[in-house]
Amino acid sequence: MVSKMDYQKVLEDIRKEVEPLLDKGLVADYIPELAKVDITKFGIHLLFLDDSSFSVGDTEEKFSIQSISKVFMLAHCVSHIGKKVYDRINVEPSGDPFNSLVQLEYENGIPRNPFINSGALVVTDLLISHLQDPRQQFLDFIRELVGQNDIYYDKQIARSEKACGYKNAAMVNLMKSYGNIENDVEEVLDLYFDFCSVSMTCSELAKAFRVFANHGKGVIDEKKYISESQFKRITAIMQTCGFYDEAGEFAFRVGLPGKSGVGGGIAAILPSQYSIVVWSPGLNKKGNSLAGLKALELFTTITGTSIF
Ligand code: GLU
Repeated sequence: MVSKMDYQKVLEDIRKEVEPLLDKGLVADYIPELAKVDITKFGIHLLFLDDSSFSVGDTEEKFSIQSISKVFMLAHCVSHIGKKVYDRINVEPSGDPFNSLVQLEYENGIPRNPFINSGALVVTDLLISHLQDPRQQFLDFIRELVGQNDIYYDKQIARSEKACGYKNAAMVNLMKSYGNIENDVEEVLDLYFDFCSVSMTCSELAKAFRVFANHGKGVIDEKKYISESQFKRITAIMQTCGFYDEAGEFAFRVGLPGKSGVGGGIAAILPSQYSIVVWSPGLNKKGNSLAGLKALELFTTITGTSIF
């Protein structure tokens, strides 16, 4: 373990080391609006449960959290309807790309896990069925976790994704044909695209994610957002399914439960210790941030702080 004082230097050294990787990845251009983001952006923010924090780079700039939102969607959903969620979604790694349709067909419309698109679309459907105003309530949930009101959906990104969201549309329709979507297909898609479009800074996301480091309890308000058993399950799914078909590689190299998104963000936790968020928009072939993955690998290696 390095002493608290060294963390700032550790992050600065990591930034220098990953700098040559920043322009090597590819931005997610299947969502046209995301392709406009400057690929050389890089930020990393570390936040401990005792409130000490360390930051390097573009950590106060909002970016599209995309699939990282799926962790909040699942937490929000289980906090409202409990383990019934898992009747309609499995919890196994998919080993397939996040938007693959193949598995869905031979598994009769039941998604492999809640962190691939099909699973998050079913979570969205459940939220529509069980909440009065799921769009507003979800935003309120994230705002409460961050402790700030200035968190919004980015409508431009949501519209941009919807205009090209053919695969997600295909997935909802396929699942609807198997009876695993209750609501109107367009309504589910629109809400899902909004959920993915939330934009946050690294420091805001680290605050929101800290609830998972703190076993489901808010650090400031001490509110129990999810139970200990829900925390255990969500964290386990992050570990096994949080990084597309690279979850094994992430466990191997980094060793923290977390979730990535095609906006280039990665949020991870060390239970009972800290949350850490890195943002670098260039992605590797599997859809994970190229420099972000390297940065976290260096971080857990240098500090000796992984779950293993
Ligand atoms: N909104 C994106 C999609 O549905 C999320 C993908 C991701 O970040 O993994 O394709």
